[in-house]
Amino acid sequence: MEMDTIVFGNYSVQDVLIAAGVIIALLILISAVRKLFKKEKVSEHIQVIRCKNCGWRGQVSRYAGRCPKCNEPLGDQLAKH
Ligand SMILES: [Zn+2]
Repeated sequence: MEMDTIVFGNYSVQDVLIAAGVIIALLILISAVRKLFKKEKVSEHIQVIRCKNCGWRGQVSRYAGRCPKCNEPLGDQLAKH
């Protein structure tokens, strides 16, 4: 099989390989960008908050939404209900 063999219409094997290379490069780029966004998302799940009930201050999961000291509802979890 020669490199200039016609595979898809006017596209040669070489063109397909170049296209595949570009797609792979894009996929690598996308996964790298996603990793960056993931890092930001992790911090989105955690919030630094001060408990209005007992004055405790620290990082709380937005989804746990409770003060570890007095179990008072905190943050976004509280806003949802
Ligand atoms: Zn508290």
